[in-house]
Amino acid sequence: MALEEYKRKRDFKQTPEPPPKVGKGKQRRFVVQKHRATRLHYDFRLEMNGVLKSWSVPKGPSLDPADKRLAIQVEDHPVSYFEFEGTIPEGNYGAGTVMVWDVGTWEPQGEAHVMLQKGDLKFRLDGKKLKGDFALVHIKSRRPGSKGNEWLLIKHRDAYIVEGYDIDKYDQSVLTGRTMAEIAGDAGSAEWLSSRKVSAAGRSTKNEWLTESIAKADAKKAGEAKSAGVRRGSAANTVKKKSLRHEKLTA
Ligand code: MN
Repeated sequence: MALEEYKRKRDFKQTPEPPPKVGKGKQRRFVVQKHRATRLHYDFRLEMNGVLKSWSVPKGPSLDPADKRLAIQVEDHPVSYFEFEGTIPEGNYGAGTVMVWDVGTWEPQGEAHVMLQKGDLKFRLDGKKLKGDFALVHIKSRRPGSKGNEWLLIKHRDAYIVEGYDIDKYDQSVLTGRTMAEIAGDAGSAEWLSSRKVSAAGRSTKNEWLTESIAKADAKKAGEAKSAGVRRGSAANTVKKKSLRHEKLTA
């Protein structure tokens, strides 16, 4: 049953989050929520078949094609989550502040379900902050304890790229204009500072598995490009080792 995992993880008498109700519309909206839970991350959600397909992106989306953002697929969320901004009380799943960071519509560049199944979802976003072509690519990861739910969120080259994109500069809700600190309110701000300390302390671990997984995904892509008859030069470039930024996971 759809949204079962969403329902199982939550007590709707305790959390202000919306109930697990499947939507009817055939709209294609997307939402990105900035979520300061155990660790700060961004939740990237695409409306598909009455639910929001969801990925947790530790470093958030980027408009720089050089950034390959780790995106952990999580349980589908109800479409009413689209407008959820506020605080999930302590003791509940995902406790912390949630901001509606971006909203808009998305357009699959092919058959959405086929691409999702194949683990190579190409789409165009028309949001307030995020625009243009992106891809979500399922990777085979050797991360310790991996559930096989690791993807990469990548910006493709187009008119909307921003090199060196710094997501921290855009700490404002598209719904209410509030910052995370403002949404959290005074009481929440103290919590916010202490959770920042925790995540800074955990920063020393390098995710070498991710670098390896990205290199493999690139090699696979290069192989596909070659067999599709793409110029050999560009395929070889893709295989070349790239300097990759290490990313860390959400809690
Ligand atoms: Mn989250």
